[in-house]
Amino acid sequence: MSNNVDIPYKTYLNENEVPEAWYNVRADMKTKPAPLLNPATGNPVTAEEAEHIFCKELVRQELDDTTAYFPIPKEIRDFYRMFRPSPLVRAYFLERALGTPAKIYYKFEGNNTSGSHKLNSAIAQAYYAKEQGLKGVTTETGAGQWGTALSMACAFFNLDCRVYMVKGSYEQKPFRREVMRTYGASVTPSPSMLTEVGRQINAAHPGTTGSLGCAISEAVEDAVSHEGYRYVLGSVLAQVLLHQSIIGLEAKAAMEKLGVKPDVIIGCAGGGSNLGGLIAPFMGEVLRGEADYRFVAIEPASCPSLTRGVYAYDYCDTGKVCPLQKMYTLGHDFIPSANHAGGLRYHGMSATLSELKHQGLMEAKSVKQTDVFAAAQLFARTEGTLPAPESSHAIWGAMQEALECKKTGEEKTILFGLTGTGYFDMTAYQAFNDGTMGDYIPTDDDLAASFAKLPKV
Ligand SMILES: *Cc1c(COP(=O)(O)O)cnc(C)c1O
Repeated sequence: MSNNVDIPYKTYLNENEVPEAWYNVRADMKTKPAPLLNPATGNPVTAEEAEHIFCKELVRQELDDTTAYFPIPKEIRDFYRMFRPSPLVRAYFLERALGTPAKIYYKFEGNNTSGSHKLNSAIAQAYYAKEQGLKGVTTETGAGQWGTALSMACAFFNLDCRVYMVKGSYEQKPFRREVMRTYGASVTPSPSMLTEVGRQINAAHPGTTGSLGCAISEAVEDAVSHEGYRYVLGSVLAQVLLHQSIIGLEAKAAMEKLGVKPDVIIGCAGGGSNLGGLIAPFMGEVLRGEADYRFVAIEPASCPSLTRGVYAYDYCDTGKVCPLQKMYTLGHDFIPSANHAGGLRYHGMSATLSELKHQGLMEAKSVKQTDVFAAAQLFARTEGTLPAPESSHAIWGAMQEALECKKTGEEKTILFGLTGTGYFDMTAYQAFNDGTMGDYIPTDDDLAASFAKLPKV
């Protein structure tokens, strides 16, 4: 800890240094992500078609792959001031425990009631829904972080919020549900009997505990069948990565203040929003030939889209109502085994991150669950914060890099995203502490069966 006099433990920007525009990394990509396709026609989705499902301004952001900067409206910046800027932390105590010469920094996004980075996009999406004069929005939530963030955002703008929560989580995480209800959202376990697709799934699979793909289909149906409602999504889409670029822009500004540059930037990848946001401005420098960084995505071995998926067009939801997206996918019918990092259980991946991986600009690794929790435990004991299971994938990734530096003696600078806290994940920690946690990894045959059902585009 020789440096702790020179470099503070936490670095905050001043409020007037918080970025005033989001950065759209697609603007600097020579080969852009492939366009979204209409599932009915197979043609690229038009703005008009998408506006039946999504908010107008969000569609504009989604389809714009050339504008680099989008000014952040004042109302959103005002809300950000309640929990931003978020701190950039030097993990001195983790470094000491690992005995590494590496310097580890993390950007901490868990410092708000929703407990994750998802509030950065939720407030933007609620703002545009309000601006459009809508009555409310519908969405799905798996582990519950996105639903919580969206309820907070809708409460702020006085919008109705209808959340379809995967039934398994609804029953296992009653406190998440109550937080959402406290903020005024209605929460329905999915599959429900309120929608046509929900009734069909219940009839076909009696007693099912649901899935994210199925909850998405229900939320979309609810939105398109009610006047004044639109559907919003908390990850995967380019608009969400755009909003999450606030993480990377702040991290980059804080590191510049300290006079340090990361060698490697690491994040967990579910649908890709936090990682896409964290790396965005750094990736922009690489794409423009101004700098050189390594980027590493960490995903669960139980749901390994980037490391074992195929790069192909696939449906984003079980009911096949959302646009088709070209991405690394395990197949829309793939149901990952029970895994405690609920936020990382999506079959696909952001099209932008998929294309960057495909171009060789980003690496990916997968890790098994018990290794993730061992990393989480060490982090909690050294750095104090109890991390979310999702975030702990990134902690594991940073530890691997730091331990490599210990072998080689290199003093690399590592930056990772600590996306949230794990207070609602104590059954997972309990399984780890009791030694009953499993490490299910799909076989090649499991994946082949799922790939066989990919749409032929
Ligand atoms: C949702 C979530 C994730 C994963 O989502 P991305 O879109 O891949 O960022 C990671 N960490 C936490 C805490 C989450 O809630």
